[in-house]
Parts: sequence; C-alpha cells; structure tokens
Amino acid sequence: MVIQPKVRKVNLGEERSYNVCFDKLSKLGNEMSNLGLKGKALILSHSRVMKLHSKLLLEGLRPYFKTSVCELPEGEKTKSEDGFSKVLDYCQKNEIERKDTIICFGGGVIGDLGGYAAANWSRGTNVVQVPTTLLAQVDASIGGKTGIDWKGIKNKLGAFKQPKLVFTDITTLSTLSSRQFNNGMAEVIKYGILNAEIFSTLNSYKLGTELESRVSDCLSKIVWMCANLKCDFVEKDEFDLNGIRAKLNLGHTLGHAVEGASNFELLHGEAVSIGLAAAARLSARKLGLSFQDLKMIHSLLVWFNLPTKMKELDKKRVMGLMLSDKKVEDGKLNFVLFNKIGNVTFPHHITEKEVGNVLTDLS
Ligand code: NAD
Repeated sequence: MVIQPKVRKVNLGEERSYNVCFDKLSKLGNEMSNLGLKGKALILSHSRVMKLHSKLLLEGLRPYFKTSVCELPEGEKTKSEDGFSKVLDYCQKNEIERKDTIICFGGGVIGDLGGYAAANWSRGTNVVQVPTTLLAQVDASIGGKTGIDWKGIKNKLGAFKQPKLVFTDITTLSTLSSRQFNNGMAEVIKYGILNAEIFSTLNSYKLGTELESRVSDCLSKIVWMCANLKCDFVEKDEFDLNGIRAKLNLGHTLGHAVEGASNFELLHGEAVSIGLAAAARLSARKLGLSFQDLKMIHSLLVWFNLPTKMKELDKKRVMGLMLSDKKVEDGKLNFVLFNKIGNVTFPHHITEKEVGNVLTDLS
C-alpha cells in the first residue's frame, strides 16, 4: 500500500501546537530534526514492536540523533509506579536532559507511561508519540493526556504533556493480532457514536468486510477521520475543563472500572466495549435512544468480537472502582450519553441504583 503523507495541525497556541503526521517511519528523524529537535533520542518500546518495526525508524533517526532503546514488558501492568521508575532509571543511566527527546514507540501503554515520564523528567523533557496500535493511532497518542495506574485505579496519577509531534505509520497495523486490532476498534466505534459520518463509513466498510485487511485504504481513511476528530476535541478543550473533551470518555466511566475489576485481563478497548454497551442501554432508558441505534451499536461491537457483557466480573468491585474514579463528583456518577448516533451529551448524573440495574442487565 502506498502511504499518502498527511498532516493535521493541532492548534493549541504557540508553545503547545504540534502536527499529527501520517507518513513512513523512515521519515521520522527528518521530521523531528525539522522541528529543531536534536541531541539524544530515547526510544521507549516493547521488544515485539522493536523486532517488527524498528529497522526503518532507527535508520531514519541515526543521521540526526544519538539513539538508545529502553524495552519494557508488555501489558497494562507496565503503566505503573514500577514501570515509571524503570523509565526514570533509564533516563538517568543515559543522561537524558531536558533538550533531549523521549520517543514513545508502541501502543497506549508506552504512550501514556512515556509521556508521563517526559512530563516529570527534569521538569519536562520533549516527547514524540509514534503509535503502533490502532487504539493509540486513533486516540491515545493525541491530546497530551499521560499517566499511570495507581493501586489498581486507572490513570490515577497523570499530567497533561503535549508531544512535539505525533507520527503515525499505519502500515505498522499489519502485524497487530486480531485481538489487539479489535481492541482498537472499540475506540473507533466510540468515535462513530460521537460522529455520524464516521459511524456510517464504518458500517459501510464493515458490510464489505474491507476492514478485515489491516492495511487498506479504508482503514487508513477511518484512522485519519478518528484522529482528526480527536484533534478537534483537544483543540476545543485541551485541559478537559469545559465538558467538551469529557465526551471522549463515552463508555469509559464503566469501562475503566471493568478494566480494573478484571485485574487488567480485559484489554482497555474490550472494557470500553462493555462500557459502550452500558452507555447505550442507559441512553435508551434516560434519553430515548432508538432501538435501531442500540441494535446497530451492538452489532458493530459483536462484529469486531468485542464483549458486551460483564460475565463473571464482581459487580460490587466494579461499582466500588466506579465510585473512586475521577469522573465522580459529590458521589454522583457522571455518564456520557446520547439520544442518537452523533449527538453525545455530558454530564448525565446517574444514581448508583440505575447503574446497578444496568450492571445486572449486563451480567
Ligand atoms: P498496549 O499499549 O498495551 O499495546 C498492546 C500490545 O500490542 C502490546 O503488547 C504491544 O507489544 C503490541 N503491539 C504494539 N504495536 C504492535 C504492532 N504494530 N504489531 C504487533 N504488536 C504490536 O495497548 P493499547 O490498546 O495500544 O493501549 C491501551 C492503553 O491506552 C491503556 O492503558 C489506556 O488507558 C490508554 N489510553 C490512553 C488514552 C489517552 O488519551 N492518553 C486514550 C485511550 C487509551
């Protein structure tokens, strides 16, 4: 597949604006150098991703940067105090300074952890996001939300740290397992509920089964549409203050709790899928979402083999985690809901009893 280079500028004022580039990995070094970045580049990644995709990346970086690689274990458990400490040790050992750059080369775990380390190291070093999972390309790499989990609570420690650049090569998706691909599709479906054009594009591709190919023009189009929508939200509400960016938490109020209650055995997108199913049911009850919309959402989730039921998860634990989430205000659970596809609103204060009823439905 021939990649058409594309650029979207995220406008956040002079200091924090940056580009989201879709291009070949081999061009990353040149792009970073054009931004004035120089010195050392510390690549945070996993050995699997390095083995599969680092050749072109390293070849492109070496003319401009002194590179080193820090490989971390795979999985959400790396997004922890322990993982954070490992990255800091690595920065110390490699004498990384403020003017140097941390490159997050992987999925959302590497991106969130690396971004948080960059926000803290020497009071803030440069960070560049190079997402290699579908989930990170459409969502996690853009917008500067970084962090780690703490005592089983998702993203409890965090910071806003906008990257200098987001650089996406969609051909990296060719090596994703089906489970990881479908995991990313949960966030894509979320974007479809937020934006009716994305939803209908997704549905038309689904019907043609074109999305089954990891590298296709239609996948490229979907990733681009979602990434652009994320940029729109971030521009309108960079620090999540006015309720606009909060809409991106659709499916996450319950999703984060489900992810924690599964001891992170469910992947983030799988947990979000259950959260989307719950948000759709609550939307039907509270806002009159039509049965047809409910059915279409359910069928998309099922098409991508995503869970819509909690099965054996402990309901009490899920509720407890939800109540300790940062989206709780004055003990009320704030949900993002929608009265139709493309019309998402926030906040909706939902009582514990109403949530409990939905959890029962999803058991
Ligand atoms: P992940 O980072 O754990 O990556 C999944 C797995 O895919 C890893 O084991 C990795 O080795 C493998 N992998 C990565 N790229 C690959 C490739 N090209 N080919 C083959 N294998 C590859 O999972 P994720 O779903 O990318 O990210 C989930 C995390 O993102 C969660 O912690 C979630 O909280 C976070 N997140 C953050 C934001 C944000 O705005 N910061 C938004 C959404 C999700």
